[in-house]
Amino acid sequence: MVLTLLFPIRCAGCGAEGVRSCARCLGAFGPPRRVPFPGSPVFTLADYAGAARELVLALKERGRRDLAAVFGALIAAALPVLPGMFPDESGNRWLVPAPSRRAAIRRRGGSHLVGVARASGARVAPALAYARGVRDSVGLDASARRANLGGRVRLVPAGLPPPGTSVVLLDDVVTTGATAAACTSMLLSAGLRVSAVMTLTAVRRGDTPG
Ligand SMILES: [Zn+2]
Repeated sequence: MVLTLLFPIRCAGCGAEGVRSCARCLGAFGPPRRVPFPGSPVFTLADYAGAARELVLALKERGRRDLAAVFGALIAAALPVLPGMFPDESGNRWLVPAPSRRAAIRRRGGSHLVGVARASGARVAPALAYARGVRDSVGLDASARRANLGGRVRLVPAGLPPPGTSVVLLDDVVTTGATAAACTSMLLSAGLRVSAVMTLTAVRRGDTPG
């Protein structure tokens, strides 16, 4: 195809031609690994660094929506091995995607995390959104993030699974854990059980000053 010649498929992690994500870059993602945050157990598939960071940024900020299938497959493999994560009586596992800011959803043409959750084959409960006025958290420290988020994550009643359902919160990057904690408390307030937070990547604590 002419288009393929002009715009060859490239690995979003390293630029290698011919694949959307090469085996070497995908090797940055391992089985779920517990990271030390208070509250519901948080598991990550990779550190937010190197190829893993590039692939997440490509999905999130560079329009590589085709990577939703790649991440969906990683999540599908991870869910069954999460401790304490059991399917409901119909055999479904439930994912609640962390919310994105409205402007980001518009820019991306939808929530990238909803795309990943759908691609995983799990039941998707789009039950969380940001209220107006939430700033981008980039550059904010932990206490500023909490203040920015305070009261700003809201429930979307139409997206809620049945009360008592055990869900996993899905996020792309966990930095301070403030977003995950705000999301988890909203889900608990709706009568859900949050068995885990599953994130694609986590910023290694101690990597950033302070
Ligand atoms: Zn690569």
